[in-house]
Amino acid sequence: MLRSLPFGPSGALLLIEPQVLQRLATFRQLGMSAPEAGGILLGYRRGHHTHVADVTVPTKRDVQRRFGFFRHATDHQRVATRRWEQSGETMDYVGEWHTHPEDDPFPSGVDLQHWREIAFAASRPMVFLIVGRLTNWYGAGLNRRLERLAAAATDA
Ligand SMILES: [Zn+2]
Repeated sequence: MLRSLPFGPSGALLLIEPQVLQRLATFRQLGMSAPEAGGILLGYRRGHHTHVADVTVPTKRDVQRRFGFFRHATDHQRVATRRWEQSGETMDYVGEWHTHPEDDPFPSGVDLQHWREIAFAASRPMVFLIVGRLTNWYGAGLNRRLERLAAAATDA
């Protein structure tokens, strides 16, 4: 089922494709040494609504640690650009995701700082998602404002 969460003012919704949540759930840090993973969220802006339809996943050139994920500078952007072209310039960068080795994840100070920079530069609300072992953390950001949306099961 398509997950939908209230997202910002005026009845806007965040819609996430079930395949996206299933794919993200495969990166949960269930094993004792499973490293962090991450990527970007790709989707469509439909009126006030944001619809997450695809993600990028770790590449060989990303650095994955138990506590830390460092994305390669250009690999994920290249996938995003390809999707944008393939979709007739409708599928766009709408946010960020990464995993935490926590059952119920919560953003770190580094996460919040990083997201504030992204949200500050954005003209539309951005989606921030942390994949935990049991639940996901969903947030939205625009300008200097970050807001938690809801915690929800990982839909695995
Ligand atoms: Zn984090």
